[in-house]
Amino acid sequence: MSNEIVKGALYVVATPIGNLMDLSDRAKKVLSEVDFIAAEDTRVTGKLLMLIGVKKPLVSYHEHNKREKGEEIIARLKKGESCAIVSDAGTPAISDPGEDLVRLCASENIITFAVPGPCAAISALSISGLTTGRFSFEGFLSTNKSERRSHLEEVKTSPYTLIFYEAPHKLRDTLSAMLSVLGDRRISLVRELTKTHEEVIRTTISNAIEYYAEKSPKGEYVLVIEGCKKEDVKPFWQDLDEVSHVEYYLEKGLERMDAIKAVAKDRGVSKSTIYKKWNEKR
Ligand code: SAM
Repeated sequence: MSNEIVKGALYVVATPIGNLMDLSDRAKKVLSEVDFIAAEDTRVTGKLLMLIGVKKPLVSYHEHNKREKGEEIIARLKKGESCAIVSDAGTPAISDPGEDLVRLCASENIITFAVPGPCAAISALSISGLTTGRFSFEGFLSTNKSERRSHLEEVKTSPYTLIFYEAPHKLRDTLSAMLSVLGDRRISLVRELTKTHEEVIRTTISNAIEYYAEKSPKGEYVLVIEGCKKEDVKPFWQDLDEVSHVEYYLEKGLERMDAIKAVAKDRGVSKSTIYKKWNEKR
């Protein structure tokens, strides 16, 4: 692929999450050659550009102006200008502005290019020491207690490694909620990646709670948590007796004999056992 900037294209450019040396040569080239840059915070990006000696027109693009600015950016792209979108740190569109702009580009057949680089979630996962083969990125939990709880309930039985972003002032509450919903699991608290105080604490949720009862959480965190173990997954029918279990399938639309068959399969018993129970109670 050519490294020439394509007219009318959007470049999604990852920027450092701490260490400036993580800005790739390609990212620098793109930032210096596009017509303009859409930035989450123009002051933050202005500083980055100054450090790398790039002068470029900046357009503010963030959560609160994305609708009108998105349309403005699309109009410029359609006229043939090229644009790079950047966030304050890391990969745009990953718990950061960019997702909507890329979606708009896709619907308008505007070409988009990824300029890959730092991403806190992937970097944290890579040094977590936990299973990396399959994982589920969960972004930030809500500050609203019941929304936070239902998010955790949703992922409770997921067998995949879970990745959350977290701010230090919310860490203690988050860990307590995690313990109460997910139970005590292995967790890697990865903080200040690529910065002077980079640290990985590989422990359990309960030990992390104890640790942070004494110590104030500081810096930016990624929490990487082991997925639910097979033996800890409670089947949905565990609290149902045989007859209620059959009724469950009947309500789902199965014929009586098919429901009995399904129950027998779930429970690992014979069809005649379930049939007998069903007839006794009816
Ligand atoms: N899009 C970004 C990315 O690709 O990494 C993430 C943006 S999100 C708004 C910011 C969150 O990412 C922080 O609250 C923290 O959870 C995590 N984060 C960012 N930089 C980090 C770092 N250097 N060390 C640990 N976590 C970091």
